[in-house]
Amino acid sequence: MMPRRPCGAAQHRPNGTLRRHVGAAACPIVRGVAQVLVVEDDPTIRTALVRGLTERGHAVASAPTGLAGLEHAVGHRPDVVVLDLGLPDVDGTAVLRMLRGVSRVPVVVATARDDEAEIVAVLDAGADDYVVKPFSAAQLDARIRAVLRRGGGGDDPHDTEAVVGGLRIDPRSRQASVDGRPLELTPREFDLLHYLAARPGRVVSKRELLTEVWQLPYGGADKTVDVHLSWLRRKLGETAQQARYLHSVRGVGVRIAAPEISAPDGE
Ligand code: CA
Repeated sequence: MMPRRPCGAAQHRPNGTLRRHVGAAACPIVRGVAQVLVVEDDPTIRTALVRGLTERGHAVASAPTGLAGLEHAVGHRPDVVVLDLGLPDVDGTAVLRMLRGVSRVPVVVATARDDEAEIVAVLDAGADDYVVKPFSAAQLDARIRAVLRRGGGGDDPHDTEAVVGGLRIDPRSRQASVDGRPLELTPREFDLLHYLAARPGRVVSKRELLTEVWQLPYGGADKTVDVHLSWLRRKLGETAQQARYLHSVRGVGVRIAAPEISAPDGE
């Protein structure tokens, strides 16, 4: 029995080039379909991901090396890139940095280990999300849809400047300042600070932050939030012990509030 070639699938030829299988007649435009590039050297995983994502309606291309992936990403401008970190030619984090030099395409990183330091490093290098191997195509599909929703936003009701005390965060210009001093924030730090500042006084759980800021609806590591909060605190000139804006609520989450004005005879 001949297996039916899924609509939109692409195959990788042995010489490293890509072959895309898109039959225009057989491939009606499906709402929500994304052009996905999978960069993965393991042929078994690569084939399974291409098949699984194709079955979920995406048009999938794949590349077995970092350089082939970069070339494809630059030449074909996919909607989202799934990037394995352990690649034979160039380390996935280096591929991500090179890609970020030329493109804002959403990148979901696939890591082999649940290594907090590595995950934080790739998120800081510009990854939009990550999955830890082994993961299913369904799980990856959920992450892909989440980063695409996030990137396609613009009608966000919270898309207005947030002001908390001396802190101003403008999501349109992506600029933030504290007491008139501009803050140099990474994209993730900016999103985190804006999410909190749009909800002043409310205790926001780490779970909510992972879902809404990191787009990890199935949860992630609390430590990811902690690390970003500590970076934010440093930039705001405060510590967890001597909080001005970012107040940790033990076992629950974090609350943003304007600093209290110290009493004249302050302690
Ligand atoms: Ca690999």
